[in-house]
Amino acid sequence: MKAHDGLYIGGAWRPAAGRDEIEVVNPADEQVIGRVPAGDAMDVDTAVRAARAALATWAATPPAERAARLGALRDVLAARKDEIAGTVTAELGSPLPFSQAVHASVPIAVAGSYAELAAAHSFEEKVGNSTVLHEPVGVVGGITPWNYPLHQIVAKVAPALAAGCTVVLKPAEDTPLTAQLFAEAVHEAGVPAGVFNLVTGLGPVAGQALAEHPDVDLVSFTGSTAVGRRIGAAAGAAVKKVALELGGKSANVILPSADLARAVNVGVANVMSNSGQTCSAWTRMLVHRDRYDEAVELAAAAAAKYGDRIGPVVNARQQARVLGYIEKGVAEGARLVAGGPEAPREQGYFVSPTVLADVTPEMTVAQEEIFGPVLSVLRYEDEEDALRIANGTVYGLAGAVWAGEESEAVAFARRMDTGQVDINGGRFNPLAPFGGYKQSGVGRELGSHGLAEYLQTKSLQF
Ligand code: NAD
Repeated sequence: MKAHDGLYIGGAWRPAAGRDEIEVVNPADEQVIGRVPAGDAMDVDTAVRAARAALATWAATPPAERAARLGALRDVLAARKDEIAGTVTAELGSPLPFSQAVHASVPIAVAGSYAELAAAHSFEEKVGNSTVLHEPVGVVGGITPWNYPLHQIVAKVAPALAAGCTVVLKPAEDTPLTAQLFAEAVHEAGVPAGVFNLVTGLGPVAGQALAEHPDVDLVSFTGSTAVGRRIGAAAGAAVKKVALELGGKSANVILPSADLARAVNVGVANVMSNSGQTCSAWTRMLVHRDRYDEAVELAAAAAAKYGDRIGPVVNARQQARVLGYIEKGVAEGARLVAGGPEAPREQGYFVSPTVLADVTPEMTVAQEEIFGPVLSVLRYEDEEDALRIANGTVYGLAGAVWAGEESEAVAFARRMDTGQVDINGGRFNPLAPFGGYKQSGVGRELGSHGLAEYLQTKSLQF
């Protein structure tokens, strides 16, 4: 695994100001696979200056040319797909087929979508006697987590570049090698120097310096609600734009008329994929009391089938946290029907695919984000009860509804306080806005709504 010993700033790899490093560990075997610089506030400042210096020219570059660079970026990512998948597997631990099908493929689709949107978007509109200009917000500070390491980078950088913004990215500590590969791809795609800059480093050091930098115009953050809240507060104090993609505790609502086996099987697969480290995962399965026992049996069987096919979670801290939640669930009265709180292997940060039954809405495992392969199955009495439970957390990122008739599921979905709902197993759409209600976040990513986050309007009156 190749690791750069510098930071990508102003179109070149440069040494960091200090000597601190971050060790990158393979969570499947606990081996160190690389080291990257831990940038500090001085590095962040250098990167922000480079982004500022590049801004005027990039903002004035015709959208067709920006679109061409994004098209080239998509092509480089496609050409290096196997290398990307291998890198994500090495530092995140996800099984290689999943890395190929999701971690490497989705960012290619998203980069492609922004190449098209940049070319097609009207950066000017007529409103009565006004011409409204859609101008780039400016210098963007992007801060990303490790769970979908390339997707989360591309979901920020591609729309920012399409809009004419320049970017400084601070990726997650656990997955910096994927971020370095992305920086190589940006370079290869011919994006001008300074338009994209990468500072690897620790969250409370480089991340905080970026979020608080006075010359950053927009902070776009994806990660935990705890850190998001602090970033939002700092941005508020500085009257700075902020976009937050935070945690989730989504409900999978199985209405009585649904195809139960399909709803349960797809629901379990949704929670177990990426070892449960998906912010939009449907970690609460809601089943009518008449079909509850059957659903629990199906869920336990589906989880048990995963066996060894599931990857590890990202690090030892996360493993301890997830196992602790399973213990807490049992202590609060949940019934363990698959998996459990013991680490299944001696080496690697593995967690057994776990199903907790008899979970009630107020239990910790029904309220807090676990971020591991743990499904809670809850019982509801009637539709109103299901809705109350579904909406009964501080989060509102995603969800699912299953019913015999699509219209019945849609009617329920309209009443859910959440940003995305899959109806009877609807497919992921890279153009659909993604983001949270309530404490799941502020703003939207992907598609034209994602592009709008990086634009501000200026009205000219005639
Ligand atoms: P985290 O908040 O600890 O870290 C996310 C990023 O923020 C990392 O790059 C980290 O270095 C940085 N960071 C940490 N402390 C910081 C600080 N004080 N100032 C500035 N930056 C700081 O989250 P995590 O553990 O890496 O990721 C898991 C969390 O992210 C989960 O809660 C998950 O739900 C959430 N998430 C949300 C989405 C979404 O789109 N809504 C997507 C993925 C993950």
